[in-house]
Amino acid sequence: PKYVYEFTEGNKDLKDLLGGKGANLAEMTNLGLPVPPGFTITTEACRHYLEHGRNPDGLDAEIDEKLSGLEEVMGKRLGQPDNPLLVSVRSGAKFSMPGMMETVLNIGLNDESVQGLAAQSGNDRFAWDSYRRLIQMFGKTVLGIDGELFEGAIEAAKRAKGVSDDLHLDTEDFKGLVSTFKGIVAEQAGRPFPTDPREQMDLAIAAVFDSWNAPRAVLYRRQERIPVDLGTAVNICSMVFGNLGMDSGTGVAFTRDPASGQQGVYGDYLANAQGEDVVAGIRNTVPLGDLEKIDKTSYDELMAIMETLENHYRDLCDIEFTIERGKLWMLQTRVGKRTAAAAFRIADQLVDQGMITREEAISRVNGDQLAQLMFPRFDESAERRRLGRGMNASPGAAVGKAVFDSYTAIKWSRSGEKVILCRRETNPDDLEGMISARGILTSRGGKTSHAAVVARGMGKTCVCGAEELDIDTKNRRMTAPGGEVIEEGDVISIDGTSGEVFLGEVPVVDSPVVRYFDGEIDPTSFDADDLVRAVHRVMEQVDAERRLDVRANADTPDDAARARRMGAQGIGLCRTEHMFLGDRRQLVERLILADTEDEQEKALAALLPLQRDDFIGIFEAMDGLPVTVRLLDPPLHEFLPDITELSVRVAVAESRGEKHENDLRLLQAVHKLHEQNPMLGLRGVRLGLVVPGLFTMQVRAIAQAAAERVKAGGDPRPEVMIPLVGTVQELEIIRDESLRVVSEVAAEQGVELGFPIGTMIELPRAALTAGQIAPSAEFFSFGTNDLTQTVWGFSRDDVEASFFSAYLEKGVFGISPFESLDLDGVGRLIRIAAEEGRAARPGIKLGVCGEHGGDPTSVHFFHEVGLDYVSCSPFRVPVARLEAGRAAA
Ligand code: PEP
Ligand code: MG
Repeated sequence: PKYVYEFTEGNKDLKDLLGGKGANLAEMTNLGLPVPPGFTITTEACRHYLEHGRNPDGLDAEIDEKLSGLEEVMGKRLGQPDNPLLVSVRSGAKFSMPGMMETVLNIGLNDESVQGLAAQSGNDRFAWDSYRRLIQMFGKTVLGIDGELFEGAIEAAKRAKGVSDDLHLDTEDFKGLVSTFKGIVAEQAGRPFPTDPREQMDLAIAAVFDSWNAPRAVLYRRQERIPVDLGTAVNICSMVFGNLGMDSGTGVAFTRDPASGQQGVYGDYLANAQGEDVVAGIRNTVPLGDLEKIDKTSYDELMAIMETLENHYRDLCDIEFTIERGKLWMLQTRVGKRTAAAAFRIADQLVDQGMITREEAISRVNGDQLAQLMFPRFDESAERRRLGRGMNASPGAAVGKAVFDSYTAIKWSRSGEKVILCRRETNPDDLEGMISARGILTSRGGKTSHAAVVARGMGKTCVCGAEELDIDTKNRRMTAPGGEVIEEGDVISIDGTSGEVFLGEVPVVDSPVVRYFDGEIDPTSFDADDLVRAVHRVMEQVDAERRLDVRANADTPDDAARARRMGAQGIGLCRTEHMFLGDRRQLVERLILADTEDEQEKALAALLPLQRDDFIGIFEAMDGLPVTVRLLDPPLHEFLPDITELSVRVAVAESRGEKHENDLRLLQAVHKLHEQNPMLGLRGVRLGLVVPGLFTMQVRAIAQAAAERVKAGGDPRPEVMIPLVGTVQELEIIRDESLRVVSEVAAEQGVELGFPIGTMIELPRAALTAGQIAPSAEFFSFGTNDLTQTVWGFSRDDVEASFFSAYLEKGVFGISPFESLDLDGVGRLIRIAAEEGRAARPGIKLGVCGEHGGDPTSVHFFHEVGLDYVSCSPFRVPVARLEAGRAAA
């Protein structure tokens, strides 16, 4: 294969091979923009190097050839003593990994060529400064020497001279530093600094390859979910210098504001500097607009180039440039990162400007961005005092009293207080405290720390790794860098979207995007926020494109109504277990404890009208749309008192000689129903088969509610769903009983009733025997929560808090399979079940109702395997609509 591409040979679509930087340098070169000539070594070469520990055959010869070509174009040789060509060696992966990997500048300098550079530039100081920069960067990145040693030597030189600024060091000082640096290299690396320019280049290339596996790069990829095996490309580019005097400089620019999306002049410029100086923040930059006064010719040229780039990429671009003695050079461009709000605004602006179509606009935004825009936020107009900042681990805006241990968090929240749990870091023992808190703040740990992973799993606001806050759990207080001390009980506000922490209560407002979905904002009115308008237009487009229906998981009339406003096309999962809690728990207890058929019937008869009313409200809210009601699913003992508490009660009563007949009976029943592994025990269809009358009562309630709605002129569309089926026989027994009940009710009520009866597919056996189940099921709904639990053997209630953070840290997986569908395992089963179910019963309706129904990546998969709908929580409905549209486009 070809391992090296000149900039003239590549283009922007070759990112896999040339990395983002290399592909875009090639694209700009071909657009005729001023890019310093150079070439790119492919990611394929890097992968070979990383796998085999050496360059692939032929790479060195290819580099020789391209280097000669470059030398010819430039009219000078690498390191040529009287007129040296100098090059930079930069990493450039497919996905940008800012600051994660290595760069070496000024390759080609040594004791001879530094003289040549001095003569050529007419600037001795510049030449020796460049030479010391080379030894410093090379020593640090290629030879792995502690950068502090070089910094320390510079500090010492400044001190000796009594100056505080690099600008006051002169040629002699830099000559001295070069000699000191060489000493540091010899001592630390056990070898002299290499003076052969080609050796410098080869070692730098290897160092860039190796930097792919540097710990910070590995960590970054894990957090950003960038695949581990892509490798990086290496760009060899002829040097241009922004530090040749005040007619030189370097800067960055954006074609639009990456925060708001507005068009304009955005960027920073630093005269007489190299790019590294800007990043290091050594001196203050000036706004890009000031360049017009400093160097109007270059400024005008830059503006024209930015327009060219926007029109060419048809998107926001960010740019790095250098001016060398009045000549503008482009060093990098890429389609720029942006905030969620800017993504929607920019997409909409580009459509208005005729640069992209509405169809294309939906590929410029995604569900994660939309979800971000839907979280409540702190009122930006309110006054607020910032205490510090950490990582934005889990979005949202939370206000509460600071507490420093989980016990207090639980105690205070039980008495109705809102609390923010502040810990240095969290561990599984903190779980209950985290659940009871409004938000979580830690001073240590990154986005894959325990706190972050668990908080995201719970949808709880979290700021983690706020290192500038000193959290002292022993003394129950926290100290901010500004000196403020927050004691236990003081109110703080944390912003999980920005990572900021504020003192006191910052008012929270609903996001305008949610108010739009709720129908409170008219997106077409002339004063509507341009963000709302942009979201509205995207939603119109995705609804036109998508093939998947989107339903909601809802089990109250309020939730159903809200889901409908959010665009839900029905209910894909109405869980009935919540309807048996509260006051009704007693009735369930009676049912379970009933000794005689008569008692049992009484208990059921008491439950029936309550259930019927539940369904009437929901059918009304979802009139005309399907409502999939799932029969009771959880283990029965969940409805019974806690076994320990009850045992204590009985023991106490016994010791006091008090009457305890009922408690004793209850305890016996609880013992009987107690299971070691309830998730794999008596639940779902198994309950329906062993507790007589339970499922038929529920079906009767559904049928009666439907009849009532029909008589009231409504259009109820119930579907009955049987959970946790493993074999078709289970389903058939319940189905036959249900059909009998439905025709009974129809006859009693004098209305025509007929509704689909189907099953959940949430056990591997059900998926593998889908072909046998389908003839008896009018629909399948994949319960991917339980399916993930049973396919992996992971307890869904425990693992995320116990060992998933370790799994994420070790890279076993990049994201919890409960959050984003495991395509290889669980996905494969779904594919098999969908195919075999369809083969056995063409036209069978297929949906999914696990949490994954609202996860962007999973939605694309469900589209691809051809499901009919996804069902998710009401709040995720817009996200699922968006991703279903993007998947279809
Ligand atoms: C599932 O298992 O995916 C499901 C939707 O059911 P539940 O979460 O109620 O078990
Ligand atoms: Mg389930």
